[in-house]
Amino acid sequence: MLTIDRSALIEFLVRLLETPSPSGHTGEAMAMVEEAFGRLNLMPRRTQKGGLVFEMPGASTSAPRALTAHVDTLGAMVKEIKPSGRLRLTQIGYFAWNTIEGEGVTVFCRSGRRVRGSVLCTQASVHIYGGDSEDVKRSDETLEVRLDEPVASETEARSLGIEVGDLVAFDPRVEVGQGGYIRSRHLDDKAGVACVLAALQAMQAAGIKPAQRTSIMISNYEEVSHGAVAGLPADVVEVVTIDMAVVGEGQASGEHNVTACVKDSGGPYDPALSSELRRLAEAADLPLRVDTYPHYSSDGQAVWRTPADVRVALIGPGIDASHNSERTHVDALEATAQLIVEYLRSP
Ligand SMILES: [Zn+2]
Repeated sequence: MLTIDRSALIEFLVRLLETPSPSGHTGEAMAMVEEAFGRLNLMPRRTQKGGLVFEMPGASTSAPRALTAHVDTLGAMVKEIKPSGRLRLTQIGYFAWNTIEGEGVTVFCRSGRRVRGSVLCTQASVHIYGGDSEDVKRSDETLEVRLDEPVASETEARSLGIEVGDLVAFDPRVEVGQGGYIRSRHLDDKAGVACVLAALQAMQAAGIKPAQRTSIMISNYEEVSHGAVAGLPADVVEVVTIDMAVVGEGQASGEHNVTACVKDSGGPYDPALSSELRRLAEAADLPLRVDTYPHYSSDGQAVWRTPADVRVALIGPGIDASHNSERTHVDALEATAQLIVEYLRSP
C-alpha cells in the first residue's frame, strides 16, 4: 500500500479551509486547487461555471473513470439591508439557522471590499431581553449580521459598498488537535478535496499511473445541487464521488473510517461499483464502514440526473456533526486517500 503524507494532507486542508468559498464565491479556493493539482503536472480545464477538471492519462482507455469532490461550502447572501444597517441573510445550501449564531462572517462587496461582522440574534443582549431570547426560534427573521463598522443606518451600510446579493462566508474556525482531530465548519467537502490530492501525490511519488484514463472534477456548486452536472467527458462510464460520511447517532460511519455510502436521499448507489470499492478496501485492510445517509445528496447524484449513462458510487471520510461544527480525524482522511489510490490503480 502507498504511503499517504498525513502532514502534507493536513497542511493543504487547513489552507483550503481558511480560504472562504461559499457556493457562488469560489474563485480564490479554486485558484488554490488549480495550483496544488497543477504541481502534479495535471493540465486543468475550467468549466464555464468555474469548476476544474484535470485529465489523467491511464494505462487503458477502455472504461474511462471520473472522481469528483467539491470545494464550495455553505454560506449566505445579503437578503436585505435593514433600516438599522444590520443585514438579513438568505441561506446558500441547507443548514439549521441556530448553527451559525455567534459566528464571525465576511461580506464580499461587489467592489472587492470585504467587511467583517457577526451573526446575532435580534434579541442578543441578555441585559435587555433576559432569558426571552431562549424561546426565539432562530430563522432568517431572528438572526441578523452586525457589521464591525460604524454603521447605524441602511445608508451607512450601503456607503461601505454593501448591496443586496453580496455573498457572505462564515468563519471556518479551523483547529488541528494534537491527537489528530481536525475541527472546522467546512470539512464538507474540503476534506474530500484534500484526500484526492493526497492520493494523487502518493501515486505520483511512487510512479504509479491510473489503470484507466481518469477525469478529476473539483466542482463549485455541490451545496446547491448542480456541481458536477456538467464538465465530465462524455465517454466516462464510472464516477466515484468523494464526499463526507455522516457520523452521529444511528450511523455506521466513524471519524476514523472511510465510508462507502450505499444509499442516500436519492436512492441506492451502483451496487456493483460500491461492492468493488468494498472489495478493494478489504483487500488493502482499510477501516471501511458501509452506511446509508437519511438526508443527503451529492455530486454523484448530480451526475446521475444528467443524460450520462454512468455507474456512480460514493466514498468519503467520516465527519461528525455535519453542516454544523464539523470534526474528523486524520485517520479517516488517510483511509479515504488510500481507498482512492486502490481504486485508481485497480484494473
Ligand atoms: Zn458535501
